Amino acid sequence: MRLSQMLFVTLRESPAEAEIPSHKLLLRAGYIRRIGSGIYTYLPLMWRVLKKISQIVREEMDATGAQECLLPQLQPADLWRESGRWDTYTQAEGIMFTLKDRQERELALGPTHEEVITTIAKEMIRSYRQLPVHLYQIQTKFRDEIRPRFGLMRGREFIMKDGYSFHANQESLQKTYQDMYQAYSNILRRCGLKFRAVDADSGAIGGSGSQEFMVLAEAGEDEVLYTEDGSYAANVEKAVSLPPDAEPSPFSNFEKRETPDTETIEKLCSFLKCSPTQVVKNVLYQAVYDNGMTVLVLVSIRGDRDVNDVKLFNELTRLSSQFGGKTILALKVPDAEEQQKWASKSLPLGYIAPDLEDDYIASAKQVHPKFLRLVDKTAVDLKNFVTGANESGYHVVGANWGKEFKLPELVVDVCKAKAGDRAVHEPSQILQTARGIEVGHIFQLGTKYSQAMGATYTNEQGEEIPLVMGCYGVGVSRLAQAAVEQSYDKDGIIWPVAIAPYHVIITIPNIGDAQQVEIAEKLYNELNQAGIETLLDDRDERAGVKFKDADLIGIPYRIVTGRSIKQGKVEVVERANHNTQEIAIEEISSTLKQWIAEAIK
Ligand code: ATP
Ligand code: MG
Repeated sequence: MRLSQMLFVTLRESPAEAEIPSHKLLLRAGYIRRIGSGIYTYLPLMWRVLKKISQIVREEMDATGAQECLLPQLQPADLWRESGRWDTYTQAEGIMFTLKDRQERELALGPTHEEVITTIAKEMIRSYRQLPVHLYQIQTKFRDEIRPRFGLMRGREFIMKDGYSFHANQESLQKTYQDMYQAYSNILRRCGLKFRAVDADSGAIGGSGSQEFMVLAEAGEDEVLYTEDGSYAANVEKAVSLPPDAEPSPFSNFEKRETPDTETIEKLCSFLKCSPTQVVKNVLYQAVYDNGMTVLVLVSIRGDRDVNDVKLFNELTRLSSQFGGKTILALKVPDAEEQQKWASKSLPLGYIAPDLEDDYIASAKQVHPKFLRLVDKTAVDLKNFVTGANESGYHVVGANWGKEFKLPELVVDVCKAKAGDRAVHEPSQILQTARGIEVGHIFQLGTKYSQAMGATYTNEQGEEIPLVMGCYGVGVSRLAQAAVEQSYDKDGIIWPVAIAPYHVIITIPNIGDAQQVEIAEKLYNELNQAGIETLLDDRDERAGVKFKDADLIGIPYRIVTGRSIKQGKVEVVERANHNTQEIAIEEISSTLKQWIAEAIK
């Protein structure tokens, strides 16, 4: 491709809309343009990158025996009602774009495709002889993200590879899941990325086990906790740990103390001169279930620890049926406005005890009349602890479960693990922290969708039972940007060779020089014929401008038809390290071919 013929506009300044390096660089280098919130145009250079990534994904998927197809993006609401996810996706997560057609039928733009594929399986799979099967597609997804940001990292329209497998039993699913683990590792390795696979929360997709593939980068939205020996790695949303031991309490008698202005743990501990590990903190949450029922939840946890909202959400989902619901639409710490909706009197916030009286909850039809009391494992073994006195400005010290306070029946793990904690499986290993960008997620779904939607098959014994399912996603467009986030310098992008839009850029320093032009044209033809994807910068620009642009767009190798042509040579510059060498013109093609093959091995 000739740059003179391309719609090629680079920007000197970073656009104000961009916060992280990869987003700035993709905008500046003319790979993407923003059209609206979370909506981007993939310009020709970007589209080439996306096609290369898709091709790597395709090859690795096909190698496992999965088959490519294309599912509809317009999805009838009925399918989502059948699976029970319409409310979750339109209200709780609120992430699905919905619309009505002119006949007033409700439809959604696909954020994911479990419902569609399960319908296909239900209609087409009859017998165990047809199993296992695995279908995948590479397609645009739509999600009305609350906070679209960082360009392609969190778009509202983005490209995903999603695959769905169907099995006769868990064993068969396990095998495909392992194959996918390998395929995903291959994809990321081939794309030239540093990554880590981690245990993950399954979220609204559901099912049992799941793992995420994280590209390691400072700007990552996810926190990963891992052990140095590599035996444990998990998303912080899912991570378990052994917190440091609690310090022995300095209080031996139960008493109420005046503790003015100590509504935070920090202030309380400095006032009482105690450790936060001797405090039972009581955090109030408000959950709204899908049947409209509001439940007030009181979580007692050790003072130095925070509640992991994802773990709490999962616990409360498990308890749904107690409150007549199936799923949770909202879970939050209620602010003053929310409290007004159900509190009969003002709450002793910052001074709450585990036995906060139920009469703080005004009687109302859609509000559960009692606090749901949970105690986190970290608080169960505390002795002579400090906690609130249910009265503003007062705490109690020297308290014990089974004496002054009844230990809640529901003992749970809702503790947020953090760096410095010990690993559960091997307490000598200390958890470390890293930031990651989630580019892939593989799930063992089990029978969640097949059961809900009646997708069954007949087994060897002639019994009709639900299909066992797995699903596997790669964010193709997010992956492309993650690659930039992991590989750039002050001059611009440094594409891994395997996914660079072009391998080589030939820069003609002075297009007024006929010999420079002639050699550049000759090399341009030769390289393209040899299958080396080559850009020719034949623009009428100053050499400096061309060199800057070449660095900015990040093409792995730059050929300059400069002074050395007099000796029958051209200069070749490697983008990654700016290493420069002069190579004889007739050796260029074979040399580059070898370098490229080496780099994408
Ligand atoms: P996240 O937690 O980042 O929102 P998710 O758990 O919702 O991701 P999945 O539903 O598992 O994501 O989707 C599979 C993959 O699609 C993700 O691993 C990610 O790479 C990509 N992806 C998800 N949401 C977006 C988005 N809004 N923009 C770009 N890529 C996305
Ligand atoms: Mg999401």
